Amino acid sequence: MPFLARQVDFRRRTPRFYARHLALDTLSLLSRRQRLQLAHTPRVQLLCLHHIFEDEEDSFRKLLNYLTQQYQVVSYSTAVDAIRNSQINAPTLALSFDDGFTCCLRAVRILKEFGLSACFFLPPAILDCQNDADKIRFCQDRLKIAPVDLMGRDEILQLLDQGMEIGYHTQTHPRVSDLLAEHFQQEFEEGRATLESLVGKVNHFAWPFGQFADFSREAYEYLASQSYASIASAERGCHRSGWSGAQTPLLYRDPIEAHWPIRHIEYFLLRNVTQPELSPEQFARSLPVRGEETT
Ligand SMILES: [Zn+2]
Repeated sequence: MPFLARQVDFRRRTPRFYARHLALDTLSLLSRRQRLQLAHTPRVQLLCLHHIFEDEEDSFRKLLNYLTQQYQVVSYSTAVDAIRNSQINAPTLALSFDDGFTCCLRAVRILKEFGLSACFFLPPAILDCQNDADKIRFCQDRLKIAPVDLMGRDEILQLLDQGMEIGYHTQTHPRVSDLLAEHFQQEFEEGRATLESLVGKVNHFAWPFGQFADFSREAYEYLASQSYASIASAERGCHRSGWSGAQTPLLYRDPIEAHWPIRHIEYFLLRNVTQPELSPEQFARSLPVRGEETT
């Protein structure tokens, strides 16, 4: 098997990893009182994961145990509805996985143990990978990662069978900020039609790489006219006031990995509560405009 199966091989431990770990250990030392205060704030929190490798199975179970104690864990669509309708009455959380790694079927099995679901954002170009060499090339050239096994048609249908939601993640996983407007149709519409021919209607979109700088206002405006219920980043933040704008909501999703210590994940999620929340207009304005200087 030419693909990596363990997260310790996928992400090698560098001196930076240990420095970050130590810094987060210090930062996560909030007082219990402070933690309780923040934890009770009504909000919708979305998580963005990519993998549950074989050495992450136990930590994912522990993470779900923690999350289900702290939040009402709901489906992605339920969380989006709460944001769209500004009905945010309790700490609420939904999970999502990007890119379609085959190891995510392990996540599905564990989610089912807890009676939970997640949304899987997929680039349908993975369906064109006919063999291991194609998959390795796709990982390297499009996802910019070490080789991992990618889902095919059968695995994607298994997600549906297991009650998971499917979201769209562009056709070929480009950096959207680099896309010319003439590619929008292929990346945003044709690929969606391919995915929908397999899984039925797809309502949610997440852009590849996930930072504001990886997207564009032009692409947002184009996608907002394509009847999506939501368009998601992988920028840290939570939703406290809902989305009062008439346009398709732009969402925060916190990137996390299941093997991280829970106190580090908790630190990021509680810190979100202390951060100012962008209004819909500010959120849209934080996206770069092609040809404009960005800082
Ligand atoms: Zn991606």
